[in-house]
Amino acid sequence: MATLLLHHSSFANHKTAPGHPERPDRYRVVEAVLGQPQFDPLLREEAEIAELDTTRYVHTNRYVDALEEARPDTGYAHLDGGDTMMEPSTWEVVLRGVGATVQAVDKVLAGEAQNAFVACRPPGHHAETERAMGFCIFNNISIGARHAQRKHGLMRVAIVDFDVHHGNGTQQIFYSDPSVLYASTHQMPLFPGTGATRETGVGNIFNSPLAAGDGGAELRDAFEDRILPALDAFRPELIIVSAGFDAHERDPLGSLTMTGDDFAWVTRELMKSAEKHCDGRLVAVLEGGYDLQGLADSVGAHVGELMKG
Ligand SMILES: [Zn+2]
Repeated sequence: MATLLLHHSSFANHKTAPGHPERPDRYRVVEAVLGQPQFDPLLREEAEIAELDTTRYVHTNRYVDALEEARPDTGYAHLDGGDTMMEPSTWEVVLRGVGATVQAVDKVLAGEAQNAFVACRPPGHHAETERAMGFCIFNNISIGARHAQRKHGLMRVAIVDFDVHHGNGTQQIFYSDPSVLYASTHQMPLFPGTGATRETGVGNIFNSPLAAGDGGAELRDAFEDRILPALDAFRPELIIVSAGFDAHERDPLGSLTMTGDDFAWVTRELMKSAEKHCDGRLVAVLEGGYDLQGLADSVGAHVGELMKG
């Protein structure tokens, strides 16, 4: 069965202030790499705009309504200091990121694709129930997990996050919910400051912090010693991946030293886990990755591996 790519040219909108690392060129390099001939077998679908109510699976009405009010007609509306902002095109872009994620979940659960990669921006995993932060406005991955439960009746969904930053938003949303497992490797100390091993939720949170300078060997240890066994014990019916590539050695926001090969390895291990527990059903959603070359290499390695499923 094929790998599905969810994409849309509007993900190159949502302009950020000059010098901001989360910029439209990120999407352009992802489209460029996935436009190469070896990616021809991908099933490609344009991302649809989500119903606003879909965001309410994980965000409060107060937050969603305040965001809608904050949409600027010109210039920027700042949501989180200088980090997170909206400009006039942003609303459509973030609703399309949510739409793409639930669309990917629908297609994979319907058996129309083996797995899926959602190429979207901005990222989502820092957005909490009622707080935008760290470039993130809606928590795509968490909405995808809830959608799988509410619309498809899944009992157990696992979210695995290998972005260099801890997904504080995802952890906060599911902290007391045993039906969703959240496992993360991330650099510590680093923004946003959460993600210690002792943060365990109701036994459903598995944080594996890494230290500056750590690379593929430490990533393998974290997965083999802690995250893959946790997945085995949980027996997910769907694995959703917060696929951030800012742990790449070239990335300016982190100090980990992963390469494309490391991202290929972790992708393969997650596919094996999905194969074992849920007929290979896996949905990956783009999070960070701020060096354009590092992002292109990593996405190429990740999606290339998904296509072998
Ligand atoms: Zn990140």
